[in-house]
Amino acid sequence: MIRIYNTMSKRKEDFVPLHEGKVGMYVCGPTVYNLIHIGNARPMIVFDTVRRYFEYRGYEVNFVSNFTDVDDKIINKANEEGVDAAVISERYIEECKKDMAALNIRPATTHPQATREIPGMIDMIRKLIDTDYAYTAKDGTVYYRTRRFRDYGKLSHKDLDNMQTGLRMLAVTGEDQKEDPLDFVLWKPKKEGEPYWESPWCQGRPGWHIECSVMSRRYIGDTIDIHAGGEDLIFPHHENEIAQSEAANCCTFARYWMHNAFLNIDNRKMSKSLGNFFTVRDILEQYDGQVLRYFMLSVHYRSPLNFSRELMESAKTSYERIVNCAENLRFLAGKAAEAGRTPEKDALTAAESAILPEAEAFRTRFETAMDDDFNTADGISALFELVKWINSHADENSSATFLQTLNNELQELADVCGLLLARDRNLDDDLAAYVEAQIAARQAARKARDFAKADAIRDALKEKGILLEDTREGVKWKKA
Ligand code: AMP
Ligand code: ZN
Repeated sequence: MIRIYNTMSKRKEDFVPLHEGKVGMYVCGPTVYNLIHIGNARPMIVFDTVRRYFEYRGYEVNFVSNFTDVDDKIINKANEEGVDAAVISERYIEECKKDMAALNIRPATTHPQATREIPGMIDMIRKLIDTDYAYTAKDGTVYYRTRRFRDYGKLSHKDLDNMQTGLRMLAVTGEDQKEDPLDFVLWKPKKEGEPYWESPWCQGRPGWHIECSVMSRRYIGDTIDIHAGGEDLIFPHHENEIAQSEAANCCTFARYWMHNAFLNIDNRKMSKSLGNFFTVRDILEQYDGQVLRYFMLSVHYRSPLNFSRELMESAKTSYERIVNCAENLRFLAGKAAEAGRTPEKDALTAAESAILPEAEAFRTRFETAMDDDFNTADGISALFELVKWINSHADENSSATFLQTLNNELQELADVCGLLLARDRNLDDDLAAYVEAQIAARQAARKARDFAKADAIRDALKEKGILLEDTREGVKWKKA
């Protein structure tokens, strides 16, 4: 059973999905006005790993993560460069995707963009106005009537009256039009030089919070399993998303709220003005993306993470030890195969059978750690222990089956962490090797007259989009 620390209840809860075997999760993505920094990479890596672990556990995951592509910072940058805001946002979405690929972060099932979801936002705002959860001010700004939502503050555990004292200090434009300082913007009128859209209230653009309410509903549903992001988003962003969605949809918005702690640099907040600010691109100039990934996962996502050169160097050494172990296993398996010892022909020895449970125990340790609120720190240390065990137990005398079993375990656990162990390998080569192995297993099953098994192998390949064809020259395969 996977347990998740829910920011809402402030405790770990058993994860029970809304629909059996499925997870719908939404992760607030970056505002695209610049290259992403290493702080932005933390939620990306963490929640990609959460997704991978759910999949490892057999869940089907609908993973949605947005790009905020309309915002003051984007508009300012566009004005500086004298181009359209869309030029800036499209440029940095592309750059962000490159960084994600370098960090082996899988693309989301859907990456919606705010500017493509305006009609949905208008619908939701209209609904909120119709039910008195929102109102229009003289200049066309639409505000959310925060106090009307009784549960406001339930995620951040804030008290409305304390919040109000804090907010009074803020001098925000348009403040005088609000019924209450706690009210927040759903739609605002255009200003000179800004992109805008038509709406029933004025030509303008959406406030920031409404996009996530609309996109998570559209791509997942009224109620989603998990909503995630960095801890700075708890208030006000996620609190406002809850107020919007629950008022509009009349049901629970998200069942589990996950928030990663912040990444600091040399124990200080990352900031451009302090000169301690790194983009992912800066780090990729010196380190493999996998090293940054290893570094991020070596600490639990709810603990603050301190970035320093020394820690990166130590992450590099550890990651390389895992890669070397995988390479060594592959080398040994290759040698065995050359000598005609393939896993089909070269079974476990009695001694290997006796010790194999020791290696399998690392998988159990890994799963126990990951089940416990995705404790990647302990998960990675179990992976590391497995590496040490393999290094002292696998050698040229090992049976091919033993080598293959260890390799599978190492690869599978590393894959959950998104750590690539086989570098420079072409995906197509991997696919071909996999399909050839399946064809060989099918031929062996046929020879043994186990036709049910042979058919099952063919069907399983078909499901993966691989079609087999029995010809006179032998079995051929192609992608469907
Ligand atoms: P932003 O582009 O500022 O909206 O941030 C995108 C994501 O990165 C959000 O989930 C933020 O909470 C997260 N984030 C920003 N800075 C950091 C940091 N220093 N450490 C961890 N997460 C961060
Ligand atoms: Zn959001």
